[in-house]
Amino acid sequence: FFAKAWDFVMSVPTIGHLPPIDVAEIAFAGRSNVGKSSLINALTNRIGLARTSNTPGRTQELNFFTSGSGLSIVDMPGYGYAEAPKKLVDAWNRMIRDYLRGRVSLRRVYVLIDSRHGIKANDKLTLDLLDETAVSYQIVLTKVDKLKTGELAKVKAATESAIARRPAAYPTVIATSSETGEGMDLLRAEIAQLAS
Ligand code: GDP
Repeated sequence: FFAKAWDFVMSVPTIGHLPPIDVAEIAFAGRSNVGKSSLINALTNRIGLARTSNTPGRTQELNFFTSGSGLSIVDMPGYGYAEAPKKLVDAWNRMIRDYLRGRVSLRRVYVLIDSRHGIKANDKLTLDLLDETAVSYQIVLTKVDKLKTGELAKVKAATESAIARRPAAYPTVIATSSETGEGMDLLRAEIAQLAS
C-alpha cells in the first residue's frame, strides 16, 4: 500500500473546493513544527511531498495526496502559530469544523503531538472539535528519538490517560520518529487497514 508512489492531488483553500467523496481518506493534524510534513514524507517515502516548514500564509489549506489505491491522505493546516492573527485562526477553525462535520469519507484523523511537549491547550481545542464532530482520531507522538531512554513509556502512559475519557479518541497512541523510522511500520499497517 505505502510501496506505491504517492502524489500531490490538490490544495483546497475553502470547503467549496473539496474533491468529491468517492475515496476514503485519513487526515493528519498538529501544531506547526510538530513534525507533520516530515511524518507524511517518511510514511510515503517521498521527500518533499508534504512541504516542511509551512509558513503562516499557507495555514488555511487542506492538501490532498493519493497513491491511487483507495485512500487519500489529507495534510491539515498546522495550528498554534504564536503570531497568527485572530482572523486567520477564526478562519482556520471554521474551515476545519466544516470539513470535519461534512466529510463522510474521512476515516480517521491522526493528531500529532510532540513527545517532548505533550498535549497543549491548542491541541485540546482540536481534540474537543474532533469529539464534538464525532470523527475518530488517534494520537501519534512525534520525534521520540529526542526522548531520553525510559521517558517514552511515561509520555505514552500520560498521553493515553489524558485521552481516556474522550469519546472519539482511539485508546492507544503510536510513538514515531521520522528520523529513525521508529513506529512507521505500525502506523502504515494501521492506516492500510482503513483503506476501503
Ligand atoms: P511541521 O511544521 O509539523 O510540518 O513540521 P516539520 O516536519 O517541518 O518539522 C519541524 C522540525 O522538526 C524540522 O526541523 C524537522 O527536521 C524536525 N523533525 C521532524 N520530525 C522529526 C523527528 O522525528 N525527529 C527529530 N529529531 N526531528 C524531527
